[in-house]
Amino acid sequence: MVILRKPCTYPSCKKCKSGEKHPLPYLSQSKNGKTNLIYLPKHLREKAKKWVENYRSLENIIERLSEVNFEILKKQRK
Ligand SMILES: [Zn+2]
Repeated sequence: MVILRKPCTYPSCKKCKSGEKHPLPYLSQSKNGKTNLIYLPKHLREKAKKWVENYRSLENIIERLSEVNFEILKKQRK
């Protein structure tokens, strides 16, 4: 999940005029070197946060597994 600063549609918005803009949550996904971004409306934010957390913990497990496999291979080469 990434936070991007975007201008809103109100022409007289002080935040946009000052260049501060609005922080909005997006879900980003990289595929074949391309990054897809979708805006997360309020009711999907919690869901998306959980998915991202699940993904990260899975990623950690896979990384750990790959380290273990690497060590095993290294030992078996001898
Ligand atoms: Zn604005």
